[in-house]
Amino acid sequence: MSSLKVAFHGGAREVTGSCHRLSSSRGQVLLDCGMVQGGPERHDRNRRPFPFSPPELGAVLLSHAHIDHSGRLPLLVGRGYGGPVWATEPTAELCRIMLADAGRIQEEDAAWKIKRLRKQHRDTSWVRPLYTEEEALAAAEKIRGVPFHQEVSLGDLGTCLFHKAGHILGAAIVEVRLWVSGEIRRILFSGDLGIHDARLMGSPEPVEAPDYLLMEATYGDRLRPAEGDLTEHLRIIVQRTADRGGKVIVPAFAVGRTQEVMARLNDLVESGRLRGVPVFVDSPMAAEAIQVFKRHADGYSDEAQRLLREGDEPLAFPGLRVVSSREESMALNELEGPAVILSASGMCTAGRIKHHLRHNLADPRNTILFVGYQARNTLGRLIQDGVSPVRIFGEWHPVKAEVVSLESFSAHADQQELLAWYRSLGGVRRGTFVVHGEEAACLTLAEHLRREAREPVFVPHLDEEYELS
Ligand SMILES: [Zn+2]
Ligand SMILES: [Zn+2]
Repeated sequence: MSSLKVAFHGGAREVTGSCHRLSSSRGQVLLDCGMVQGGPERHDRNRRPFPFSPPELGAVLLSHAHIDHSGRLPLLVGRGYGGPVWATEPTAELCRIMLADAGRIQEEDAAWKIKRLRKQHRDTSWVRPLYTEEEALAAAEKIRGVPFHQEVSLGDLGTCLFHKAGHILGAAIVEVRLWVSGEIRRILFSGDLGIHDARLMGSPEPVEAPDYLLMEATYGDRLRPAEGDLTEHLRIIVQRTADRGGKVIVPAFAVGRTQEVMARLNDLVESGRLRGVPVFVDSPMAAEAIQVFKRHADGYSDEAQRLLREGDEPLAFPGLRVVSSREESMALNELEGPAVILSASGMCTAGRIKHHLRHNLADPRNTILFVGYQARNTLGRLIQDGVSPVRIFGEWHPVKAEVVSLESFSAHADQQELLAWYRSLGGVRRGTFVVHGEEAACLTLAEHLRREAREPVFVPHLDEEYELS
């Protein structure tokens, strides 16, 4: 008997932990293997055995390098998956950087936990990192990078290929073509879809209508505010801060947001609209990612590639310094006068940004500029919500700096853009599944889709399996 099934093992009525499994009579394909992030149950959920047998998978396909899409790959490999992991070339390179970083963070967290338990004279023998940096690198070795639009053989199962999703460098809409009773069934997985007016990344590509669609809904119930010319907003904020002798501190994800902000600062500096304000990018991971971006500029939008051909490298401009070493990073604390400092992590939960906030929050001349989503209970969210004082490394710091948020820097398509992309497919044939969004966002998007869809639209629950065709 031939059959086709899809099961949702993460990113079902939630944003993180993206993981979906297709199975036909010929075998199984896993789409993404992401880490569950946020929420108190994340530790248990990430450690839990997979509800399928990793050695029995025929292939793993990654939509992009973000940890909520790739972060459980080391566990999958550790638990017996020995086959290929396919992704685009930039995703393969970024995963090496990001998974290694995730492994380091897991090791640091475990070491911290052991220290705390020892202080309380409690047993520590059970504490293990989710995975180590070494295990992360071993898993990253399995990822095979292929160009966009190149058909990849999945053996007996069928084939797959990657279309551009925008979002971040290398991000893909994954098309899977599986053999089902002598016919090919096309399943499209949107991954995360980007916005249409990003500076570096292009819009998600239109793809020929599939039989089945798995579609993200992060902003399924939201419209981004019309903030107008984002580059001009950025200029006004930086200039205002510089005029009072202050620094602009920008917490930003090392891969994606950092480069988008850099490219807009590039435009301001190179057009002479911003003068005399040095820009520091202080994050070892961002420094590595910048090299990957430069090697894979063919992943940029057509417009960004055109500017590049005309000689405008968007990630290099006068006054820019990319800081890697700890000494140089610490020297920034002594820096006098106006500056822009971009640092990670994006939600201020770890990394060098915490040092920059500690040194700069109390000075009313400074500005803290948020360019990405701040999850509940994070230091970033507290500052964004106007909480003062805030606690950093056990000390309280009053927030006297100006606090600004520019939501348009988001890497995620909003409701209108999601619907526009869906329409560009020209009619899904057999069924659509809405994933990767909080429950309300998924349900709202599904409702909108049902108004125009001819196929049934589902919002799956965690670990739910559907029989297709
Ligand atoms: Zn993403
Ligand atoms: Zn995502």
